[in-house]
Amino acid sequence: MRIAMISEHASPLAVLGEEDAGGQNTHVAELAAALVGAGHDVRVYTRRDSTTLPDAVSTPDGYQVCHVPAGPAGRVPRDELLPYMGEFGRWLAEAWRRGDWTPDVAHAHFWMSGLATVHAGRRTGVPTVLTYHALGTVKRRHQGARDTSPPGRIGYERALGRAVDRVVVQCEDEVRELVRMGVPRSRMALVPSGVNQDVFRPDGPVAPRDPARPRILTVGRMVERKGFLDVVRALPAVPDTECVVVGGPPADLLPADAFARRITALAESCGVADRVKLVGSVPREQMGSWYRSADLLVAAPWYEPFGLTPLEGMACGVPVVGSNVGGITDTVVDGLTGDLVPPRDPRALGTAIRKLLADKVRRFAYATAALDRIRSRYSWKRCAEQLSAVYAAVATVARPAPAVA
Ligand code: UDP
Repeated sequence: MRIAMISEHASPLAVLGEEDAGGQNTHVAELAAALVGAGHDVRVYTRRDSTTLPDAVSTPDGYQVCHVPAGPAGRVPRDELLPYMGEFGRWLAEAWRRGDWTPDVAHAHFWMSGLATVHAGRRTGVPTVLTYHALGTVKRRHQGARDTSPPGRIGYERALGRAVDRVVVQCEDEVRELVRMGVPRSRMALVPSGVNQDVFRPDGPVAPRDPARPRILTVGRMVERKGFLDVVRALPAVPDTECVVVGGPPADLLPADAFARRITALAESCGVADRVKLVGSVPREQMGSWYRSADLLVAAPWYEPFGLTPLEGMACGVPVVGSNVGGITDTVVDGLTGDLVPPRDPRALGTAIRKLLADKVRRFAYATAALDRIRSRYSWKRCAEQLSAVYAAVATVARPAPAVA
């Protein structure tokens, strides 16, 4: 099949760890590669956010990335991209109508891409699929007045759930959220993300560490909801342990980063500054060496639509202490592949980390069970196979004649 993937802000070619570049970029890159591996012809459409980008780039994984001119050819925060989605959708419709490469199905990632994709789909007859990646209702619940999403987000997300041919959800928690929003369960297909088991594996290079001191690792974009401050608050209850934080801007820019400075200031006031090490963003191909250097991975977000980092840690044979939220409750089996604790509870987090660090046998048992779980359930190949079936099903459904532009 010819498969279009639309990911307006998250390019598969981006450097990860910064504020708007994380799991969705990884997801789109890995999924596109796996779909090519399954024999499909794949193009990823993302917004042109620099004047130096070529119109199209052919990747070594065999898919093409097309840079769509919509809005300024410069960096625009994700939450300010809505005004350009009409332009994005018209560009897609025009490109697909020209007929040199018309997709059999278009898979949108994130609600704003969904708007552009539905617009283009209606004008060209191309079937549409949507993965939300994150939901406005959940964000609003946790961030309240600090949520910078455009005001209409929740309404658009609800409407998109009925406008697309299929909604691809990533975890059971997302199913419940969408049902509460009024999206019928029958429109959803549950297909979790995978993890690249060539990059994330138990053997391979290990980042330097002090062998005499236990190491916990936490990974993610430098945003408050990732729970880094809760991890620092938990540290006094875990004596003599080093805490490594991967993510954020590159190391040389960390001193100027406001959130990195908050972490450092909190570490000083908790008396653990000598044990907290901020590494900055790490290229994807080096991430495995950081996971493997740790005795355990702490994933302590306030909420998490899916959460690739626990999967990556598990694939590297590292046990996880995680928050019992979102996708983490599907991927980490409490008491079998890791320990789950309530979010925003540094006391519970500290206790869980201390106990697991003190129990080598349990860590080994968790790591072994986690690897089994990853190998049997979370490959990108499996994800691509399941999605191929979804795409085939929507592509054969009769649809109304395309709307006139
Ligand atoms: N990541 C990375 N380098 C970094 C920080 C993060 O490559 O310095 C990757 C990480 O390995 C994972 C993704 O960014 O693949 C983060 O995904 P996750 O689902 O955990 O969080 P999100 O960013 O989507 O909220």
